[in-house]
Amino acid sequence: MKVITANFVTCAVKDCKTSAASFPLHFHDAELEMQEIDFQPEFIRNVIPRIDWEGLRVTANELGFPSLPDSKPEGKALEDERTLKDLHRLLLETQVMEGRLVCGNCGHQYAIKEGIANFLLPSHLV
Ligand SMILES: [Zn+2]
Repeated sequence: MKVITANFVTCAVKDCKTSAASFPLHFHDAELEMQEIDFQPEFIRNVIPRIDWEGLRVTANELGFPSLPDSKPEGKALEDERTLKDLHRLLLETQVMEGRLVCGNCGHQYAIKEGIANFLLPSHLV
């Protein structure tokens, strides 16, 4: 799964929907693979406003990426190719192939296998 995906998912357990601790889900034992994708600065520029920046900072840190800036790039910073390329690499080119996503609220673990995260809940949690 691409790193960007983690910024748009929350725990599927009902009680977690209203808990701030359930976002972002935390990567554990993540095995990363870099996949080269054509650099599209426009796409990155358009997606940044929809990113939960604090959440992405947590995720980047957990995956061992260099720290992201304290605040979300906007205005002039979105013209900076270096910034856009770094985000392109983190959000789109980094694939999490194996590992787990763990909810900070309920502790539920979502397995990631062969690059696919399984967000289905066992029946007793639905
Ligand atoms: Zn949860």
